[in-house]
Amino acid sequence: MLYLVETILYVSIMIALIIVYKIKKFNWAKIGMLVASIIFVLAIAITFVVEKPIVQTKDNISYEVGVNEKLDQVIVKYHFMDVSDKVKTEGEVNFNKVGNYKVKYIVPTILGNYTKEQTVEIVDTTAPIITLTGNETEEISYNQEYKEAGYTVTDNSNEDLQETVTVTKEEVSNTEYKLIYTVEDSSHNIGYAERTVKLIDKVAPTIKLKGGSTVYIKLNEKYTEQGATATDEIDGDLTDKIQTSGKADTSKSGSYTITYTVKDNSENEAKKTRTVVVYDGSKPSVNTNAGSEKGVIYLTFDDGPSSSITPKILDILKAKGVKATFFILNYSSTNEKLVKREFDEGHTIGIHGYSHEYKAIYQSVDTYMQNITKLQEKIKKTTGYTSIYTRFPGGSSNTVSRNYCKGIMTVLTKEVVARGFKYFDWNVSSGDAGGAKTSQDVYNNVTKGLKHNRANMVLMHDFSGNTKTLNALSDIIDYGLKNGYTFSSINSSTPMITHGVNN
Ligand code: ZN
Repeated sequence: MLYLVETILYVSIMIALIIVYKIKKFNWAKIGMLVASIIFVLAIAITFVVEKPIVQTKDNISYEVGVNEKLDQVIVKYHFMDVSDKVKTEGEVNFNKVGNYKVKYIVPTILGNYTKEQTVEIVDTTAPIITLTGNETEEISYNQEYKEAGYTVTDNSNEDLQETVTVTKEEVSNTEYKLIYTVEDSSHNIGYAERTVKLIDKVAPTIKLKGGSTVYIKLNEKYTEQGATATDEIDGDLTDKIQTSGKADTSKSGSYTITYTVKDNSENEAKKTRTVVVYDGSKPSVNTNAGSEKGVIYLTFDDGPSSSITPKILDILKAKGVKATFFILNYSSTNEKLVKREFDEGHTIGIHGYSHEYKAIYQSVDTYMQNITKLQEKIKKTTGYTSIYTRFPGGSSNTVSRNYCKGIMTVLTKEVVARGFKYFDWNVSSGDAGGAKTSQDVYNNVTKGLKHNRANMVLMHDFSGNTKTLNALSDIIDYGLKNGYTFSSINSSTPMITHGVNN
C-alpha cells in the first residue's frame, strides 16, 4: 500500500513540476501548483524517511521438535529492496526441546533499528514408537503365562519412556489374547503396539497306572493286565487311546517292562512303564547253612563304583584270578563302564540301593522296594543282567531304620525274599568304613575273621578314597590262597548269610 502511495506521489510531483515549468505567467494557479508541489515533495520525503520495512513472517510460528536446526529465512523488504541479508536475529531457540521461545528480527532503517518480535513454539505432535522384540504373534502352552519378549520405545523428543510403558491384557477368546502396549510422552502423544498370544496344547496327557508300578508275580502264575487311565487338560479322558506294549513271560523268572503310551490331539505323547518281576516263589533258595560251603571266601565291596578305587580293585582281582561281588549304589554315566567291566570280568553285581540315605529308603516297604528295583532296572539297562542279590544299607541288623519306620526290618527281610531277592549280610568285617585306620588294620581284621569251617562273607568298600582296603587287598587274597581258602563271587548256591534283626 505504502508503495502505491509513494508511486502516485512521485508521478504527481513530476506532473506538477512539468505544469509549473510550462506556465510562464505568474498567477495563482501557478503559485498553487508550486505550493502543492512543495507539499508533495515534503510528503514524499517524510514517507521515505518514516517508511518501515516489511518483515514477512508471522507473530507466532511453530516447529516440530527435533526436526529443524534453525529458523526459516525471513524475507524483509525496505524501499522496494530485499534487505533480508541485513536482518539480525536475537534470541536462542532449542529445536530439540519443547517450549516457547522469543526471537527478535532487527532491521537497520534510516531512523534506526526496526524490531519485530516473534514467538517460536517448539512442539511435539509425534507419538512415541513402541517396537516389539520377539514375534507379533506368539504361541505358548495354555498353562503358561506369556514371558514378555521385550520392547523398545523411541521418541522424537528423546524422552526416556522405556519404564513407563503399560501392558494390558485383552481376552479375544479362550485360546487367544492380546497384549496392548501403550506409552504417553509429556506432550500427551500416545504410542501403541499390540501382540497376539495364542494358547496351544503343549502338555502331554497324564497316565495313571491302575495297580502298582512294580508288580511281583510268582513263576507260572497268571499276570493280569490292570491297565491305566489317561487324561489331558484340553482333550479330557484319553484312556481309550492308550497303547500298551511289552509282555511279561511268567514262565521265566526275570524283570519285564510293560509300556503305556498315549497321545493327545496335539500330538503330545505321554509314556509310563510298569515293571513286572517274575520270581521263583516256589522254593525261595534261602539257605542259611553257611557250613555248606566250607572255606569259601566271598569278597564283597559296598558303596561303589568309584572312579578312583574300583578300577584298581578290578585290576588286582583280575591279576589274582579271583571273583568277587559288588553291592553297588546308583552310578553316573561316567562310571557306567565300571559296572559293565565288573559284569564282563565275571564278578557278581549286587544291589545295595539306588540311594544310601537311611531316612529316605527306610520310610516304608514301598520306598525300600522302589530303591532296589530302580537300581535293578538300571543295572539291567547297563549290563542286560537282572540282579536279585541285595545288601541292606546298614545290614539287616541295623537299628537306624527304627528312627524312620518301626519294625520295618522285620517286614523287609521277609518281603525281599518273597519278592524273589536274596539278601546278604556279612560275617567278616574289614572295618574299613569305621575302626580300621590303616591297610594293616584292614588286613588284620579280615584275616583274623576268616574261618575254615564256614562260608566267609567279607564286608569291604570300594567307595572313593578307600586306599587302605585297596592296598590290603593283594595281601588278603594271598593269605587266603596260602591258607587253603577258595574265593567265589555270590551265585545261586551261595548261602544267605544274615544277621539277626533288631528292628
Ligand atoms: Zn553301604
